[in-house]
Amino acid sequence: MTVSGMRDLASVDIVGAGPTGALLAILLQRRGLKVTLYETRKDPRGNSGESGRSINLALADRGMHALKVAGVSDDLAGALVTMRGRLIHEKNGAQSLQLYGRRPDEVIHSISRHRLNQVLLEAAASLPGVETRFEHRLEDADFENAAAQIRDLRRDRLSSVPMQPLLATDGAGSVMRRRMTALGLIETQEADLEHGYKELSIPEGPNGAYRMASDALHIWPRGNFMLIALPNADGSFTATLFLPTRGAVSFEALTSPPAIERFLRTEFPDVYDLMPNCVAEFQAHPTGFLGTVYANRWSAGGMTALIGDAAHAIVPFHGQGMNCCFEDCLEFSAAVARNTTWPDVFAEFFASRKPNTDAIAAMALENYLEMRERVADPRFRLQQSLALELERRHPQRFIPRYSMVMFHHEISYRTAQLRGDIQARLLAELSANAATLQDIDYEWASRQITRELPPVGVRSSVTKE
Ligand SMILES: Cc1cc2nc3c(=O)[nH]c(=O)nc-3n(C[C@H](O)[C@H](O)[C@H](O)COP(=O)(O)OP(=O)(O)OC[C@H]3O[C@@H](n4cnc5c(N)ncnc54)[C@H](O)[C@@H]3O)c2cc1C
Repeated sequence: MTVSGMRDLASVDIVGAGPTGALLAILLQRRGLKVTLYETRKDPRGNSGESGRSINLALADRGMHALKVAGVSDDLAGALVTMRGRLIHEKNGAQSLQLYGRRPDEVIHSISRHRLNQVLLEAAASLPGVETRFEHRLEDADFENAAAQIRDLRRDRLSSVPMQPLLATDGAGSVMRRRMTALGLIETQEADLEHGYKELSIPEGPNGAYRMASDALHIWPRGNFMLIALPNADGSFTATLFLPTRGAVSFEALTSPPAIERFLRTEFPDVYDLMPNCVAEFQAHPTGFLGTVYANRWSAGGMTALIGDAAHAIVPFHGQGMNCCFEDCLEFSAAVARNTTWPDVFAEFFASRKPNTDAIAAMALENYLEMRERVADPRFRLQQSLALELERRHPQRFIPRYSMVMFHHEISYRTAQLRGDIQARLLAELSANAATLQDIDYEWASRQITRELPPVGVRSSVTKE
């Protein structure tokens, strides 16, 4: 297939038409490739959606940027609900809003997973040269013969599809990744978190009114567990309970309706009455598992590459999983533009992306502790206010880590992590003996920041990846 010096990137098959596969199809079509997209599920266009996994997602700058590049962001405008901060609900009913950023545009958006998938697939399918095959499931891959086995579920017919290449965007439980691992082509680790999640709903009020503030992501931090809720465009909220899977307070321990009711009513008193079906939902909805996927390689020859969650699923506590996948799609598409063979595309994609996906995987795990525990801690709140104040004073040098991750797609995850480590140390030192922002030694802060944090965009030992 590859003739030296000739460009052979003419067509591609993609398996998995979730957010990653659908966006990738659009971007690769724009590069002039023919794309065939296989998806195990039914065509989501024209149906109202299915319940189960998180039904809304937080979309931040990285994801929005990729959607803009793909030309689909305008189609989503009416489906976004803007969230400008975290609204913390304490057990005694007290509430406080922690703004995400300093500027009005430093916000994130809640979007229905189903609507997003519909819009992406509508856009992809409307492009010449993109073919969609729903109800087609990847079942196996034969690397000696460079052929994948894909079953047409409507006819129950198994076909052999040449991997020339076949890109795998089949999600966290990727069949392709597990097959490559079983054959020893790559080494992987699926690190399960000891906490799972369950979705509950907060229906809309009379006339579709929101029953809590609609411009915030609500958090009920309770130490070893937490409830969060994101607004939906129809006035409802989707709440997600994150809880240990085993132990005294856990999904395993909560089995009877009275125990479930007691737990939810005691721990989340101010929202309990807004969730009229919560006990039934708790019993009916599956408990979702959470974990991080690490792989030492994402491709095998020029035959296949893992992209999105299939390559590097992460825990959802930074709201970045899909945002990261969308950034993958942009980088993969850029690698296609810069190279002439698939092995070169795959090699460049892995080399540029892996340090960044490792960084966001680590930051997402750290953020769980922040959300379920630290947001309620006065010292953490002081450090958060201080970080915003230091950003005001040194906007080119000190940008809170959360902001770098959520609002600055031009700053890589790895750079955000490295600069964030330095900033965390400075914040701890500066706030050690302070009760308020007035107690901070800003002159010392200024000297340290100038010494340790070069302006963003200036490469140095801090930003080297
Ligand atoms: C509780 C929770 C909350 C989250 N919240 C956020 C958030 O707020 N913000 C955010 O950015 N991210 C969030 N995420 C992460 C986000 O959901 C994922 O990163 C994103 O869905 C990954 O997209 P993907 O297309 O790579 O994989 P998936 O969304 O898993 O899509 C994979 C697709 O492949 C198909 N498929 C699977 N196997 C096969 C097969 N064998 N053959 C053919 N097709 C197949 C599936 O049907 C599916 O359509 C959250 C995740 C969870 C679990």
